[in-house]
Amino acid sequence: MNLYIHTIGCQMNVYDSEQIALRLQAMGYQQTDRQGNADLILLNTCAIRDKAEQKVFSYLGRLAELKAQKPSLIIGVGGCVAQQEGRKILSRVPFVDLVFGTRSLDRLPALIHTVQAGKGPVVDVDMTDTLGGLAAAIPESAQAGICRFVTVMRGCDNYCNYCVVPYVRGAETSRAPQTIIDEIQGLANAGVREVTLLGQNVNSYGKKEGFCDFAELLERVSHIDGICRIRFTTSHPKDLSDRLITTFADLEKLCHHIHLPVQAGSDTVLRRMNRKYTRDAYLERIRRIRAACPGIAVTSDFIVGFPGETDDDFQQTLDLIRTVGYDGLFAFKYSDRPLAPAAKFPEKVSEAVKKDRLGQLLALQEKNTFRRNGDLVGTVQTVLVERRGRRLPALEGEGDPWTGRTSGNKVVNFIWDVRGGAGTEPAPGRLVDVTIQRALAHSLWGMPVTGTESTAPGEVDAACGSFAQKMAG
Ligand code: SF4
Repeated sequence: MNLYIHTIGCQMNVYDSEQIALRLQAMGYQQTDRQGNADLILLNTCAIRDKAEQKVFSYLGRLAELKAQKPSLIIGVGGCVAQQEGRKILSRVPFVDLVFGTRSLDRLPALIHTVQAGKGPVVDVDMTDTLGGLAAAIPESAQAGICRFVTVMRGCDNYCNYCVVPYVRGAETSRAPQTIIDEIQGLANAGVREVTLLGQNVNSYGKKEGFCDFAELLERVSHIDGICRIRFTTSHPKDLSDRLITTFADLEKLCHHIHLPVQAGSDTVLRRMNRKYTRDAYLERIRRIRAACPGIAVTSDFIVGFPGETDDDFQQTLDLIRTVGYDGLFAFKYSDRPLAPAAKFPEKVSEAVKKDRLGQLLALQEKNTFRRNGDLVGTVQTVLVERRGRRLPALEGEGDPWTGRTSGNKVVNFIWDVRGGAGTEPAPGRLVDVTIQRALAHSLWGMPVTGTESTAPGEVDAACGSFAQKMAG
């Protein structure tokens, strides 16, 4: 039987889709990348961004013909939109067989059995699951890749006024440390070299359950052989502990990049968003991070046009962006979410103003990104090779480029053949020291250090040590 999963949205959804595939393998389903071949189509949805529901319903509309041609085809909708809309999905799209929420993954095989037995449609948006059964998603080594995401906690207790996560993903719940370690060990055995630990607010990891804190979890992950780099996202500024900040200096494998969403630069807007920190408190966190880890790359998220945001508020946001000098950022125009309190806030900002502010903000950041990338020209960066890069016409005849990322999460392209001396060709998973020669808007170009070797996966831990010493020096 063939399974086709269409995933919309964030990395957490990508991870959940892998979890789903793993559970359904045991039922005899194999994944296909051709929708027309599927016996089961699952749509894993996201409600965070604008027009999420419309996207889901228009996708489902396009499946009507397929279902008419093959009535035995099972169609299911899961994720945040399923959690938010529940049974309403069935009344809008009667040929849907299954609606499952964000905490129904362990029950999914049983739900599909019910549909197969002709007892559908079924709806399960119960949120009582505690993640106790969240299995280690260890893929076949052939599919493992070099970099993987691992969810360490789900849900959120912060209730920012614009956000639906606490309503559709439930309260913060952490996985037991040993299940995370076992999963990452399995990934390392399958050839993975870099893991990104995921959670809506990783800084709260383990607090409710009495597990170790997040800094200790990072340390335990760093002891796993074969894993060379560790990243994490996302951090809430109010919960970013001094202990976690010093971890950037102490843990060799922890990459020198932090994503710290601020959302706005005005205290008035931050208060109305219910972010629970001030602009000054945020800037103090940034100062401490940079003191502990000079040169660390800092990125963030912004929302423009939150209800009541004045021109002066927006200028304060631009000022904060100039002050911090981010390496990169994600910015969005505010839009109402059905379950979020801000949907009822008056003083909505017009679309035209939101569009104009977003344009100003992105233009400012483009200059920042270019400048921060330019700061790396002339430095030597250790690059974890991920794949062959895209050939540039200007480099015709120079050989195929390789692409990978620095510790600071910058994409670097380089051509191995132009480097002097012998040495083993790079391959995905190897580490290469590259002198940065050119900064582009979204990537860097460099040349491997003369005579350098690329480092084999088996030598990865030693290479990480030398990389850390270099950074410290
Ligand atoms: S911290 Fe705020 S924005 Fe982030 S998931 Fe929680 S409620 Fe949403």
